[in-house]
Amino acid sequence: MRPTGAMHLGHYHGALKNWVKLQNEYPCYFFAADWHALTTHYEDPSVIEQTVWDMFVDWLAVGIDPSKSTLFIQSRVPQHAELTMLLSFFVPLAWLERVPTYKDQIEKLGERGHDLHTYGFLGYPLMQAADIMIYRANKVPVGEDQTAHVEITREIARRFNHLFGKEKGFEEKAEAAVKKMGPKKAKVYRELRKKFQEQGDHVSLEAARELVEDVQNLTLGDKERLYGFLEGGGRVILVEPDVLLTETPKLLGLDGDKMSKSYGNAIMLREKPEDVTRKIRTMPTDPARVRRQDPGNPEKCPVWNLHQVYSDANTKEWVVKGCTTAGIGCLECKQPVIDAINKEIAPIRERALQYEEDPTLVRNIIQDGCEKARDLADETLRDVREAMGLNY
Ligand code: SF4
Repeated sequence: MRPTGAMHLGHYHGALKNWVKLQNEYPCYFFAADWHALTTHYEDPSVIEQTVWDMFVDWLAVGIDPSKSTLFIQSRVPQHAELTMLLSFFVPLAWLERVPTYKDQIEKLGERGHDLHTYGFLGYPLMQAADIMIYRANKVPVGEDQTAHVEITREIARRFNHLFGKEKGFEEKAEAAVKKMGPKKAKVYRELRKKFQEQGDHVSLEAARELVEDVQNLTLGDKERLYGFLEGGGRVILVEPDVLLTETPKLLGLDGDKMSKSYGNAIMLREKPEDVTRKIRTMPTDPARVRRQDPGNPEKCPVWNLHQVYSDANTKEWVVKGCTTAGIGCLECKQPVIDAINKEIAPIRERALQYEEDPTLVRNIIQDGCEKARDLADETLRDVREAMGLNY
């Protein structure tokens, strides 16, 4: 996660709550992506430090448990940078340019004064791929909007394994195995292999599959063997990750827009109860409900979005009925949400206290996490360097 400072309820429902659950199912690696912050906010690095520590306090306070998960800072594990650079040698520019968010972000953030026509910003998805693959992660918990980034990671892993995953003596082994398939099939294999080599290193596994599919009279087993041979020996050094999609409720901001601290429409995880109460009591409602006796429509009211997340079926029914018949007032309608939010964040605020009071505690947890991350990243890099001929 990019360091954005203290976290709000949108982060909690959109990601953190799920992370707390995931740590009981998988060994998890969660990190503050401080280099990523620099890809878009390189003009103002001074905010990074505080935002990183504030973010960690919230992670710990919501229940991310350092005895189960590894928490660390990206820039403290320079192995990410080495892998990013090694990948950069063979990843075509076109792959990066076609990431859907690339042009979109250049325009959007450009309007806010960030010039993103930089080498680093174009390389953003490459760095993300390295972030994932350096831990040989096989699952990445992301939202729908991030699936393209995981997909490009898969392509990069495939290309790497194809280019550098060849076993030594593979050609001879393949030749001997194909011979056993009989002279006709051996001929097919040689022809395919030639075609494959002619196309150079740009052949993907899909292309290999297409070539093999075109050949008549091959059994399924023969086909599988041929895929393997055409791929070139198929040693998996970098793992292709899968997306781990989890349905999360969309919690909007107090004005019905996306929740964001910079829009001033957020409730923070460490918000005081009186501030939660004030913020909800003053939040806008259906504009058609000017007076208490005017009926309203929950669909046009941002409070309804909060009820969707926090209220049970009975309460929701009470809201719909009360709102549309002007049977309840807006302040009355807001009270169950105020109570639910305060109940949810009270233990978070309480757990945060010990970390706020003792920053060294947080620093030590993160230092341990960085060490663990570096050890694992080193293992992957050793294999990568060896595969790329750099272990001399
Ligand atoms: Fe919104 Fe509730 Fe007021 Fe209806 S009664 S407008 S849902 S706050």
